[in-house]
Amino acid sequence: MFNPRFESIQPVGVARATTADDVRASIRFARDNALACVPKSGGQSFGASTVENALVVDVGPLNGISYADNVVTVGAGAGLYDIHSLLDKYGRSLPTGAGPTIGISGPALGGGMGIHTRGHDRPPARSPRQSHRAPLRS
Ligand SMILES: Cc1cc2nc3c(=O)[nH]c(=O)nc-3n(C[C@H](O)[C@H](O)[C@H](O)COP(=O)(O)OP(=O)(O)OC[C@H]3O[C@@H](n4cnc5c(N)ncnc54)[C@H](O)[C@@H]3O)c2cc1C
Repeated sequence: MFNPRFESIQPVGVARATTADDVRASIRFARDNALACVPKSGGQSFGASTVENALVVDVGPLNGISYADNVVTVGAGAGLYDIHSLLDKYGRSLPTGAGPTIGISGPALGGGMGIHTRGHDRPPARSPRQSHRAPLRS
């Protein structure tokens, strides 16, 4: 996604994390080099997850999604389209945003406005972490 409003913002680097160990190593690297460290999930909140003089840790590849016993477990980089596509197979859904390319992290941290918002409220705000588990509604 390209937006000229943020064209001048240049992070020091982007670490693409494929494992939790990659995330740990990225945080350690940022700390050792006195850099701010900013996570990026879907990247749709580009003014927040693309930051000057910081190491961006792209958790997009951590996009696993599984469903069992009425609980969906998603990686921090999972996208809303993929999450809803899987849940639909089980007749389940989750109140999130409506944009298909939005990552789960932004909506999981602060809620999202989507088609279920009025009937089922927003998801609760959560502490930052690498994966989220949420009870589902039918
Ligand atoms: C085209 C478009 C359509 C949109 N449509 C909707 C909509 O229908 N409904 C709605 O509610 N919102 C909508 N939004 C807003 C969107 O939901 C928010 O911007 C949301 O925060 C995006 O989440 P993200 O994970 O994709 O973004 P990111 O930029 O990756 O992350 C959002 C914030 O969370 C932080 N973060 C990312 N990963 C982690 C992590 N693992 N741990 C801790 N912090 C993390 C980032 O640093 C950033 O501050 C839309 C935005 C766009 C650009």
